[in-house]
Amino acid sequence: MLKTLVIISLSLFQFGLSAQKRTLEFTFSHADFHANKEGLLSQELKWPDSIEYGFLGLSGYSLDLEVLKVEARFSIKGQWQEWKKLESGHNSEESSRQTFVLEPFEEEIEAWQIKVDQPFKGTLAMRFFAAPAEKKNLGINSGGAETSTCACPAPPQCNRSCWCPNNDCTPPVYSTTVPTHLIIHHSAGFTNYNDYQWVVNYYWDLHVNTNGWSDIGYNWLIDPNGVVYEGRGSGNLGAHFSCLNGGTIGICVIGNYMTNTVNPLALGSLKELALWEACQHNIAIADSSLHSTSNLVLKHLSAHRDANSATVGCPKGTSCPGDLLYAIIDSLALDMSVSACFLSSPETSHPSFSIFPNPAFNLLKVSSESTTWTLEIINIKGQEVASYQSSESEKNIRLNHLAAGIYQLIFTCPKGIAFQKLQIK
Ligand SMILES: [Zn+2]
Repeated sequence: MLKTLVIISLSLFQFGLSAQKRTLEFTFSHADFHANKEGLLSQELKWPDSIEYGFLGLSGYSLDLEVLKVEARFSIKGQWQEWKKLESGHNSEESSRQTFVLEPFEEEIEAWQIKVDQPFKGTLAMRFFAAPAEKKNLGINSGGAETSTCACPAPPQCNRSCWCPNNDCTPPVYSTTVPTHLIIHHSAGFTNYNDYQWVVNYYWDLHVNTNGWSDIGYNWLIDPNGVVYEGRGSGNLGAHFSCLNGGTIGICVIGNYMTNTVNPLALGSLKELALWEACQHNIAIADSSLHSTSNLVLKHLSAHRDANSATVGCPKGTSCPGDLLYAIIDSLALDMSVSACFLSSPETSHPSFSIFPNPAFNLLKVSSESTTWTLEIINIKGQEVASYQSSESEKNIRLNHLAAGIYQLIFTCPKGIAFQKLQIK
């Protein structure tokens, strides 16, 4: 067999290269591996000289769910490095894929090779994300696009068109959820690379094109410089909390905080963002309550690892968001709970609407000062079960089709959004 580097045949890979985003996908079948004493090896594949990068992310997926171990090695400065095992993906949402991911790196590679521990059915897709080497300035919005119904302002943010300047990171039609708990994450990587616009773009690509999710998993991300990035945004169901995402907002602080402390700029933005979310969703930030999706009593400011004790969902013993970030969450919540904007946000700043009776049986009378409004009824799983529109200040709505239980009402009128709990008997 030839021992030289071989560019694998063109049918094996697709080039998705543009000025803005650069991904390469290689599809392997079992026949592309040869056995030797080290295991089942792919060919040695040359990295295209024309592709320079700021960082390189390698991930992969297989539709065969029989557990496969995938390792990769790279030739750097003419030397093959040690094999590195690709981790199974960040557990957050059910997927029909088995996924693999390696922490991104910045070293220039000349060649790469993968190894698997056993034959597999179907195909194994391996994907590279090559972030551009040149740095770009961010177009950060001066304020949050969302309307705020309380005194805590939305922080400035880099929205989707800022971190995806090609506008090809299309968001899906989201399922909404009524947030009761904020969940803190870390990204576990990128302590050196600092062009965070592309880090967020990489996470979007990893979550969508490798993991097969509909969008980037988090609602928000924050970089070590304190820049806030819009993910799924407020009130949209995310994919971040061990398959227990109903009722949550996921905030990821980019970096690894197992042994690193969080930059004060990032902490400041985390506080501002979480205060705004808590304030507009009427979440008492330093309290706890039952999180119905996980069936756990959780602090309203919790961490990904707090799902580890759940008996439902897909918890896998994550250490996210790292020991040092985890250790400060309670003091952060206490600190936030006495913030002036949080204390000064009266309920009366929300548009008022009233419902009668509550508890209700078959019929509910909704009254408002506004003549145009919508009312959404959300069940305890965070799913919308009914939605009404009115062009009058009063409306009677029928509830016969809804099961007995507790529901959250979301009332929207030109003045803003308001919430109330409704019990149906
Ligand atoms: Zn996490």
